[in-house]
Amino acid sequence: MLGKMMDTQLTINSLIEFAVKFHGSTEIVTRSVEGPIHRYTYADSYKRIGKLAHALAGLGVGEGDRVATLAWNTNRHFELYFAVSGMGAICHTINPRLFADQIAYILNHAGDKVIFVDLTFVPVLEALVDRLPVGARVVIMTDAEHMPETQIPGALAFEDIIGAEAEDYPWPALDENTASSLCYSSGTTGNPKGVLYSHRSTVLHSWATCAADGLAVSARDAVLPVVPMFHVNAWGLPYACAMAGAKLIFPGAGMDGKSVAELLADEGATMSAGVPTIWAMLLAHLKEAGVQLPKLERVIVGGSAVPQSMIEAFENDVGAECIHAWGMTEMSPLGTVARIKNSMTGAAPSETIQYRVKQGRPVYGVDMKIAGDGGKPLDHDGDAFGELCVRGPWITGGYFEDDDADKGAFDDDGYLRTGDVSTIDAEGFMQIVDRAKDVIKSGGEWISSIELENLAVGHADVAEAAVIGIEHDKWGERPLLVIVPAKGKAPAPDDILALFDGKVAKMCIPDAVEFVDELPHTATGKILKTKLREDFKGYSLPG
Ligand code: AMP
Repeated sequence: MLGKMMDTQLTINSLIEFAVKFHGSTEIVTRSVEGPIHRYTYADSYKRIGKLAHALAGLGVGEGDRVATLAWNTNRHFELYFAVSGMGAICHTINPRLFADQIAYILNHAGDKVIFVDLTFVPVLEALVDRLPVGARVVIMTDAEHMPETQIPGALAFEDIIGAEAEDYPWPALDENTASSLCYSSGTTGNPKGVLYSHRSTVLHSWATCAADGLAVSARDAVLPVVPMFHVNAWGLPYACAMAGAKLIFPGAGMDGKSVAELLADEGATMSAGVPTIWAMLLAHLKEAGVQLPKLERVIVGGSAVPQSMIEAFENDVGAECIHAWGMTEMSPLGTVARIKNSMTGAAPSETIQYRVKQGRPVYGVDMKIAGDGGKPLDHDGDAFGELCVRGPWITGGYFEDDDADKGAFDDDGYLRTGDVSTIDAEGFMQIVDRAKDVIKSGGEWISSIELENLAVGHADVAEAAVIGIEHDKWGERPLLVIVPAKGKAPAPDDILALFDGKVAKMCIPDAVEFVDELPHTATGKILKTKLREDFKGYSLPG
């Protein structure tokens, strides 16, 4: 027997319609790419979203067509999220920091019909002018006054194409399983792989993001997503904020510590989210400039492991809770959040921190297991580690038009293999030991590069740290610690190695420390270990 409830479809359009109807006067504030602060409301945004949909239709965009963006977090990008998906087309965000060849591959693999580009990234597209999808139109996200001279043929200005259009758009009644957005995940090898989200997956993911044990986004919040809208839809925050009716603050191109701090303070942000590298810059700036952020309640950190020293710095120096979360492009991205449970609430911070440094507990909707040899599920005892495998309604079931990428991506039970090696403890907290490719195998034991890196950045004179395995005749591999010193500092290797004493097993302590000016990063800000291993190929360890 079927239930008798209404079969209302979970669509992205319903999110913005809800925000307009019940939170119409709530603000969306942007540091525009042109410079000035732009300020309007959800109600205002919807009028421009309608105009934009008309303009897109005028450019020949129809249901199922892909519309690319190379853009910062701004109100115009927000309008594209809702206009493109709302009309049944697919909003395809591209990371402008990728290599030119990767961007050319992605644009052509997706077959983008229109490409929206911020002023900053016009040169990125100009370099690819001969490799754009055939017939693709380019729209520069600015007004006539700021239009640059460009070699891109027929480039249009965003404000020009929407200017004369009507605000009301006849939004189609979409099936909730309609594709809504597309984001390519860029591994360190092979071509980028497209993850194709649906309206339904996006709405369900937004609910998890708003849940108290998720990121707890609510109408009391003013949210500044530092995580870019070109990286897994800014962790889905623009959708979740519309669902909650939260104030949105977009940092535009100003991603440095000073600009982010200014906006957090001026707009009274209660919550922000981003990767550890951004927060390290912010914390350094706050300290240097003596800026206070009294309204900031919590900061979500993910993308890479958060060191304990960062959690403590936020809480002691800024007065904001620092919450560790984990996910991936394939998961929309939210998977786990490290929030304590009722049974832990009375415990001392020195005890709860052991849970809070972990990647966290799954939110409802994400099922996970750790797989040992032959895919056998391992115990949740906090010690056993294996490949983390996940499934759920906002986790990809296959890559966009790429059968090769699907091969080996899923296990026999249909779980997505994440490529992360992790433990799960008796309380359900997952902790990433390493990327499967980065774990160091020494004398038959596994050494976690992440654990060593997190300890190393706890040293006041260390700005960034990476640990890689160096070939070793006797042990197979031994860890080498590569350090970027803090500005103007020259820490002694022994002083840094002393940090590990008593905190990790002796066999895990790196054999040597090397200093570099900077570490190689991927386009999403993670340390590019493949490149680092190449740089240190043939390195000879002491003794
Ligand atoms: P991406 O798809 O670019 O978002 O990258 C996803 C990958 O980033 C995951 O599979 C992890 O390897 C890594 N990652 C994300 N969040 C964390 C975290 N909190 N701690 C450690 N690694 C993380």
